[in-house]
Amino acid sequence: MPLLSLEKILHSQGFGSRKLCRIMVFNGRVTIAGALCDDPQREIETDRFQFEVDGQRWQYRQHVYLAMNKPLGVECSHQPQHHPSVYRLLPPQLVERGVQCVGRLDQDTTGVLLFSDDGAFIHAYSAPKKKVPKVYQVTTKHPIQHELIAALLSGVQLRDEPAPIAAAGCAQITENVLHLTIAEGKYHQVKRMIAAAGNRVDGLHRIAVGGYALDPALNPGEFSWLEPGDLEKIG
Ligand code: URA
Repeated sequence: MPLLSLEKILHSQGFGSRKLCRIMVFNGRVTIAGALCDDPQREIETDRFQFEVDGQRWQYRQHVYLAMNKPLGVECSHQPQHHPSVYRLLPPQLVERGVQCVGRLDQDTTGVLLFSDDGAFIHAYSAPKKKVPKVYQVTTKHPIQHELIAALLSGVQLRDEPAPIAAAGCAQITENVLHLTIAEGKYHQVKRMIAAAGNRVDGLHRIAVGGYALDPALNPGEFSWLEPGDLEKIG
């Protein structure tokens, strides 16, 4: 089991420089199971280690994996252009330790958005070759005709793409709602596919990434930690 000093643990979890973390400990802001620990050099087994900073509970995590229910009107960028950054919805410690979105959703798209600070995971799940299926609930401007579904399933030609792109799945839910599964993650892909098939997107909500479905208990802007079982479901 890896042993690390309390100061190193706090630093690794995004609480600031080693010096700042040492000062936090000296100042009595850190407790372990409710008991004050004012020795920054205390050696601790990191596995499942829990601690509190200013009374807030944290668990040591070598890497962070999260799923947020992305709300409307936030941009998936550290330098947003027109709307607040989605990173403002995360605790600053997570941003400090380098947590990034895995792929991006438009500011007016809601639903499952994954975050991690594990470079290999981010790369694997953003890489076009990986082809993780993503399921979107699409609300269309005009009633859905069966020709729309047929076109999406057989493939639509998008500008600047060498070949038509076909949906990996498509099911009509109501007159104006369908569930569309895509395996790629191209720029505005769903909006462009629906437009190319002769309709328009009025609302877009991502309900699943791989086999991981949005937790219905998560309100917009909230996130949950992904555990190994959830990561397996993603695919
Ligand atoms: N396709 C889009 O058009 N927008 C998104 O946010 C995601 C997929």
